[in-house]
Amino acid sequence: MNIALIAHDKKKEDIIRFAKKFHSILSKHQLFATGTTGMRIADEAELKVTRFQSGPLGGDQQIGAKIASEEMHMVVFFRDPLTAQPHEPDISALLRLCDVHQIPVATNQAMAEIMIQALDHEDFDWKGIIEMNR
Ligand code: PGA
Repeated sequence: MNIALIAHDKKKEDIIRFAKKFHSILSKHQLFATGTTGMRIADEAELKVTRFQSGPLGGDQQIGAKIASEEMHMVVFFRDPLTAQPHEPDISALLRLCDVHQIPVATNQAMAEIMIQALDHEDFDWKGIIEMNR
């Protein structure tokens, strides 16, 4: 599964801790990240990460493009709700595309923990559940 990891500056420490805590689960998947988040996760949590541009330079849009082409399957996005972001339109666009394409997205650590533990269950098949309810 292709998983995108993004963290705003004040949440970088949190996502590093998260990546270390769930290293054994995350390492079974293909990881992608915005520039700085990806660099820190690779260095500090020792996970292999494919990096896009930094978020404010278009990284969120690059991840959005992968979602639009069904090439990204899950998004972990540690947002900072207390600081204005210059690239807010890109963030909204990314979250919108997750909804359009039924991509599980966690925007805080609590949901990310639930989501990543569900991922470790082999029967976690939300696409199948959605198809069944159509
Ligand atoms: P960064 O981008 O990982 O390059 O810091 C994240 C963001 O701010 O959207």
